Formats: sequence, structure tokens, C-alpha cells
Amino acid sequence: MIEDQRFVVTIDGPAGVGKSSVANAVAKQLGAAFLDTGAMYRAVTLAAIGDGADLNDESVLLEILDSKNFSFDVADDGMTVAIDGVDVTEAIRDPNVTSNVRFIASAVKVRERLVDLQRAFACEHERIVTEGRDQGTVAFADAGFKFFLTADVEERAKRRKLQLEAAGKKADINELIENIKKRDAGDEQREAGALAAAGDAVIVDTTGLSFEQVVEKLVEEIKNKN
Ligand code: C5P
Repeated sequence: MIEDQRFVVTIDGPAGVGKSSVANAVAKQLGAAFLDTGAMYRAVTLAAIGDGADLNDESVLLEILDSKNFSFDVADDGMTVAIDGVDVTEAIRDPNVTSNVRFIASAVKVRERLVDLQRAFACEHERIVTEGRDQGTVAFADAGFKFFLTADVEERAKRRKLQLEAAGKKADINELIENIKKRDAGDEQREAGALAAAGDAVIVDTTGLSFEQVVEKLVEEIKNKN
């Protein structure tokens, strides 16, 4: 039995490694709330694009954070996101948001504010499973359970292609590989909250593993450690 009141599991890793689905499934099995921190960066990006804001201007981005009501709520199959009461759960997945989110992710003060929101979410829930890039290194450096998922870029692109095809969309594998590489480079090189495994994270190479195998591995590790 897991009885720690401050039960925090962090799952970090590069783009397309399957963190969200894995984190959501692990959270369900452990009766924890799932926090998708990428959705926060995406929501700010969507709001900024909608306002026609200069994405390089951190003060404008901070103003957007202050003037709009962003809500992130636990839902059965993930997390729902709303801006000023309007559901944007689907809209934040738009490719235009994906290709511009790097501006928001590299704004240091915006990151600080989003990390505060992430910690506030943890205070509201007895148990959380959170996923992102900096959850084990920055947001929850004292978390009890930390994981870092990896997979070959080719495998990540293949998984993404299958997802897109399942949604009726076409995708070119080479283009997907290039996009993922670009996002990884941006995430690894930024000044604050860069993509990195925490020193005490369990590194799980998911190449060749099924989704169920990855979930099982994480749940086992958590139960064994407890
Ligand atoms: O995980 P997802 O692809 O939804 O994240 C969108 C973007 O948000 C990432 O490409 C990354 O740049 C940024 N991000 C971040 N820190 C996090 C989560 C996401 O910088 N904790």
C-alpha cells in the first residue's frame, strides 16, 4: 500500500516518447491525479497566438497569464484545459501551437509561474503523477518517484505517425523525425527547465516496449520502492 500523503511521481522525457498516455495510465492505477504540464505551455501559446502577441516578449506573455483565467482539470482520459471558460483541450494540440510553444517554454519568468501552478496542483491533490521536461529536476526535485523515459527518435516518430493515422491524418516519417529532433534540441538547450534526467531518476528506454509494458514497469518500480 502506498500511504505517503505527499505522493508525487514525476515522468520526464523528450517529445513523442509517450509520457502523457503512460503518466495517465500510471495515475489511474495508483489512484492519483494526472498533471500534463506540456498542456500548460500549450495553453499559454494558444492564448498568445490568439491575441496576436509578440511571442518573444516575456512581459506580454506574463500579462496574458495574468489577464486570462487558465484552468487545468482532472478528467477521466487525461486533463481538460480551458481559457476564460472556453474548452481548449483539443485546440492546444494544433500543429501551429506545437511549432510555437518553444517561445513560451524558453521564457524564464513564464516557466516560474507555471511551476508555481504545478506545485499548487500538487497541494490540491493527495497523490499526483506529473509529466513534462523539468518535473523531476525543477518543479518537484524532492519527489519520491522519478522516471525519465527515452526511445530512439525513429521509434518516437513511428508512434506519432500511427497516432496521426488513427486520427485520419497523413504524416511523412522523415518530416516527423526532423520535427522531433528540432523540439528535442530546443528543449535540451534552453536556459531554464531544460530537458534532463534528474540524477535520482530511473531511466526507462521504451524502445521496443509496448505501452502496457512501460506502464507495468513504472507501477512495479513504484510499488517495490514503497
Ligand atoms: O509534452 P508536450 O509536447 O505537450 O509539451 C509541449 C512543449 O512544452 C514541449 O515541447 C516543451 O517545450 C514544453 N514543456 C516544457 N516543460 C514542461 C512541459 C512541456 O518546457 N514541463
